[in-house]
Amino acid sequence: LFISFEGVDGAGKTTQIQRAHDFLRAKGLRSLVTREPGGTPVGLAIRELVLHGMSSFPSIAVTGGTDVVSASDDLYSRTEALLYAADRAEHVSRFIRPALDRGDIVLCDRYSDSSIAYQSGGRRLEEQEVDTLSRWAADGLSPDRTYLLDVDPAQSLARVNDEPDRMETAGEDFQQQVRAKFLKLAKQNPDRFLVIDASQSVNEVWQIIQADLEALTAD
Ligand code: C5P
Ligand code: MG
Repeated sequence: LFISFEGVDGAGKTTQIQRAHDFLRAKGLRSLVTREPGGTPVGLAIRELVLHGMSSFPSIAVTGGTDVVSASDDLYSRTEALLYAADRAEHVSRFIRPALDRGDIVLCDRYSDSSIAYQSGGRRLEEQEVDTLSRWAADGLSPDRTYLLDVDPAQSLARVNDEPDRMETAGEDFQQQVRAKFLKLAKQNPDRFLVIDASQSVNEVWQIIQADLEALTAD
């Protein structure tokens, strides 16, 4: 059983995924929590790059000299799309697929829908191309169930704490496009998606997920 949790930044995915994990474990099921980007060692390096750009690698900026492109937190949008795809290829091949083959339940904080929502909805790349790239990177692996925690970014961004990353500082309009694309994907895949109003309290959101997990894991 492969389950992804999707939504804009600050929607509460991380809290819910941890509850789901604890719930499944308490039922005696083997559950694993992972995330994108950053579910593997290579993925963690990619995560650093996509979240903070080259400002995470000051030593490279120095040796680059002054006549090359200067280090910044900016990334060309196609470069960014390929980095997320590379992260997914590592993640699926080394972690998710082997875990599913062992019979474990995999709970993933973001997956392919984030690629379409952020790289196409947010960065305006062509949706079909991002989808094709993503499927190729994932070697065709798709989640059995996706929980979309849907909330207005104007509300959720206020919850984003600590150091905001490149996407979290991209502005509310960007995040609104991301949200709209998530909702469109959910509409197109009603059997896979469960859309949850994440403006509700943590407990209310959790009740909905718990009921669905109960049904999915009933034997
Ligand atoms: O931990 P969190 O999910 O916040 O970090 C991942 C970040 O990367 C998010 O802020 C999201 O905006 C971005 N992202 C993206 N495209 C993806 C996956 C994540 O832009 N395919
Ligand atoms: Mg975030």
